[in-house]
Amino acid sequence: SATAPLFRFDNSYARDLPGFYVPWKPAEVPAPRLLFLNRDLAGELGLDAQALQGEEGAAIFAGNTVPEGAHPLAQAYAGHQFGGFSPQLGDGRALLLGETFDREGRRRDIAFKGSGRTPFSRGGDGKAAVGPMLREVLIGEAMHALGIPTTRALAVAATGEPVFREQPLPGAVLARVAASHLRVGTFQFYAARDERDKLRQLAEYAIARHDPDLAGRPGRYFDLLERVTGRQAALIAQWMNVGFIHGVMNTDNMTISGETIDYGPCAFMEAYDPRAVFSSIDSGGRYAYGNQPMIAQWNLARFAEALLTLLADGDDEPALQRAVARATEILSAFPVLYQAALLRGQRAKLGLAEAAAGADAADTALANDWLALLHAHGVDFTLGWRRLADAAAGDASALQALFPQPAAAQDWLARWQARCAEDSAVQPGQRAEGMRRVNPWIIPRNQRVEEALTAASTQDDLVPFERLLAALRDPYAERPEHAFYAEPAPAAVTACYQTF
Ligand code: AMP
Ligand code: MG
Ligand code: MG
Repeated sequence: SATAPLFRFDNSYARDLPGFYVPWKPAEVPAPRLLFLNRDLAGELGLDAQALQGEEGAAIFAGNTVPEGAHPLAQAYAGHQFGGFSPQLGDGRALLLGETFDREGRRRDIAFKGSGRTPFSRGGDGKAAVGPMLREVLIGEAMHALGIPTTRALAVAATGEPVFREQPLPGAVLARVAASHLRVGTFQFYAARDERDKLRQLAEYAIARHDPDLAGRPGRYFDLLERVTGRQAALIAQWMNVGFIHGVMNTDNMTISGETIDYGPCAFMEAYDPRAVFSSIDSGGRYAYGNQPMIAQWNLARFAEALLTLLADGDDEPALQRAVARATEILSAFPVLYQAALLRGQRAKLGLAEAAAGADAADTALANDWLALLHAHGVDFTLGWRRLADAAAGDASALQALFPQPAAAQDWLARWQARCAEDSAVQPGQRAEGMRRVNPWIIPRNQRVEEALTAASTQDDLVPFERLLAALRDPYAERPEHAFYAEPAPAAVTACYQTF
């Protein structure tokens, strides 16, 4: 035909990894309607947002029309869920539609979530509801605006059919863009079945896709482990510095790319508390805020285990022992890398310049004592950091107002000011400005997110969702019209909030 295809797919997973997936089609739905199209992301992908905005776009994003060049498939993967191993999970309600190159030449997956049952669905219905899919939009766009590597929502389409949870809910399909959908759990799937050729093929594919400079190098599987370790250490440090709690850090939800994936029961912390956990399915607090670095390292150990037969240069016990020793060494760098990334972020948040050698211990103590202070007085994490920027500019009154007694922060503030004075080249105004570029004013506060999703889901009213989204996309500016989104929830609301 005369019209150009809407997507220019180049499907390497389908092409290079036969046997790693099941070709599958999205389910037909009765009444496709586009609820959200990410024009910004569409532009990044070189897509014609105008063309996707219409009926054809709705039919594509609801799954009724498979676009030209797509190769929809369900990926196989395994995973440790809350510490217990499931040898077969896989895309039970997701499909990889295909891959495309973005404007910068990076390969990006376009995948559906909620597109119906697949051979991996087990007892599930393969469907998703409007609320949780719009939630993925909000949290993903917030993370992106905060500069945190993340999968992003390209579109959400309502299906016009109910999905049955505790009650009937309006159904939807999410289109998600990711650097890839390779997970720790993808490797675990083939390791658990002792399919070594496939494991090797998968590792080569991951290297070609995410670490192409390693291709062909001897010892490259160790390097892959090292790269993934480094990316995850940096990612988790970024989570911690914005108060993000993923909520379900199972190994199938940990990417090889280093992007955050799967916004289910996640939440942003309000009053600072390392034990904060919002997910009702996490009754033991395994995935609480303060546990996230440790859990990431645990997951990476599972990744190393999955790679072990590739890492070893023989099948004998000594060869395996050598591989274990080297892998352990790589993994043991995680806390060091994590601490360094965390401190780098904390220094920026504290308005401190990169310090000379020897200052790390003192700056770490300064940051830890600040967090202890927020914890002791139940101060809102986001506003605490944000108002510290005002203190840098010379007015500590808004910061002090966050504490039950204005004097509570006095001693710590004096220490911090003395430390700031060491960076003699930095003017107070400059420091405050820099701090406002890294300490957001707006985060997706649970109450505001729920209100927006409830309006969309029960009244078909997308206005609160769109307003919140606009605020989340501009997290560092203090605009009077966004003040509603900056306000912490009353403690009584926060205390009983659950995401799932
Ligand atoms: P998650 O907890 O979202 O990471 O998902 C864990 C596993 O459960 C994955 O294999 C999903 O595909 C599967 N799953 C989650 N929800 C559903 C559903 N409604 N229908 C089928 N499979 C599902
Ligand atoms: Mg998942
Ligand atoms: Mg999920």
